[in-house]
Amino acid sequence: MSKSPRIPPDLCSGCGVCSLICPKNAIRFRVFTNGYIRPLLDSSNCINCYLCEKVCPFLEEPNSLMSRGLYGNKENALIGKYLKVVLAWSTNKYVRFMGSSGGVITSLLIYLLRKRHVDAVVVPKLHVINGRVFGVYEVVTDPAKLIEYSGSIYAPIFGVHKALKEVSLRKYKIAIVALPCLIRGLRNAMRFNPRLRNSIRYVFGVYCYNTPSASATEYVMNTFLNNVSNVNHVRFRGFGWPGYLIIRTVNGRSFRIKYQEYSDSGFGQYFYDYSCFMCNDQTAELADISFADPWTYQVDIGLGKTLVVIRTAEGWRVFSEAVEEGYIEYRELPSFIYAVQFTTLLKKTLRGFTLLSKHEVTRGNYVLPPSISTIVHEIDYRVGHFLASNKRLWNLLRMYVELKPYVYLPLIALDYKLKTRWTQILMKIVSTWKIGK
Ligand SMILES: Cc1cc2nc3c(=O)[nH]c(=O)nc-3n(C[C@H](O)[C@H](O)[C@H](O)COP(=O)(O)OP(=O)(O)OC[C@H]3O[C@@H](n4cnc5c(N)ncnc54)[C@H](O)[C@@H]3O)c2cc1C
Ligand code: SF4
Ligand code: SF4
Repeated sequence: MSKSPRIPPDLCSGCGVCSLICPKNAIRFRVFTNGYIRPLLDSSNCINCYLCEKVCPFLEEPNSLMSRGLYGNKENALIGKYLKVVLAWSTNKYVRFMGSSGGVITSLLIYLLRKRHVDAVVVPKLHVINGRVFGVYEVVTDPAKLIEYSGSIYAPIFGVHKALKEVSLRKYKIAIVALPCLIRGLRNAMRFNPRLRNSIRYVFGVYCYNTPSASATEYVMNTFLNNVSNVNHVRFRGFGWPGYLIIRTVNGRSFRIKYQEYSDSGFGQYFYDYSCFMCNDQTAELADISFADPWTYQVDIGLGKTLVVIRTAEGWRVFSEAVEEGYIEYRELPSFIYAVQFTTLLKKTLRGFTLLSKHEVTRGNYVLPPSISTIVHEIDYRVGHFLASNKRLWNLLRMYVELKPYVYLPLIALDYKLKTRWTQILMKIVSTWKIGK
């Protein structure tokens, strides 16, 4: 009897590609009480074709794509292959104001739809379901609607399989916005499914340090809003740079919390699962274009700007056309160093060497050796993640967040150094490494 397919239980980010590729619809996704999404396999339908294993971004590496001349001629161990790094912003002030950074993704999608370069775009929209926050992928054909989809969703995302099945039925050419893990899965799936390959014209990736669980937003409401109830609207970013979390209730009450405040409360640090901790993409290396918050270059930021890493010739063509048509403005950055964030260093560390990991996940052959800072990061994650995992421990988590700076003060100072000068030195060293060496 053949073995059932492996779906790695603790190394799954819930990207959904296994369910998309399964010819028997044997995989469904469920939200667990801890707020993470996990696949459930119906083995009675499974025919053991193992396609799900072959596309899983944590089991199969599509890095070979990088050596096929699709991606830019510059390469860097920390950001992957690229053609250009620029700082850009939407020329539409409202799109820029409502976007996470500079509204560049939204402007680019509007441009693609208006000029009929694609029939539809596939993007997630935020929904509040039974008081919990999720993103659900949808197929959008009307450019005027895209503003409703702008802004980052810091919550689990569902439904890519459903949206892409609709795209396939309607024979649409599309652009999709996705997290790095989903892009890796999609690139794998495109090898096996010619329909998917034909329909996906542009893949836009966002930088991603982690995806907070559905419980993370609950924790923020519990911490800042005294357990507000009947929430029917949530927006994590937008309203300028770096923006606000906006929460509205059915009875018309409205709250806003500064991005930095809610993000640093434990929301951004401890409510993400082991898969995100082990993941060592961050920069969406397999996208046509990657988009990020310009944390490392906030000069004249105004309403917001987006850091853009253009990777493929197709990505550059469409970006420059949108610039020529007046949708986007940009300027080149003095150096590609601005595309590396402190979190990139953590993601590109050889996790297998850290103290407590039982897995070794390496992507390509370019990873940094662990340092004091990455080991401290791991201990901090384990402690915080444990406290975040149970609602009854959330008061302790809040205390931990307050005390942490004193506990880790010298090491945090070291981190700061790493963030600035050390990053530059490391970049100089690793920029000479070649992918696949
Ligand atoms: C979970 C998450 C983590 C991130 N982590 C980092 C980080 O560590 N460092 C960093 O520099 N940048 C990070 N980003 C990216 C950053 O927040 C902005 O999304 C990016 O700079 C683009 O800004 P924009 O104003 O051009 O996009 P907008 O014009 O605001 O458009 C955003 C687009 O992204 C889509 N989108 C929103 N959420 C998701 C999602 N979860 N999955 C797929 N598509 C989505 C929207 O539908 C919309 O089309 C993260 C984004 C997400 C969603
Ligand atoms: S092995 Fe094939 S049929 Fe079974 S769950 Fe995976 S993709 Fe579906
Ligand atoms: S950190 Fe990696 S695994 Fe987690 S959501 Fe982001 S891309 Fe996916």
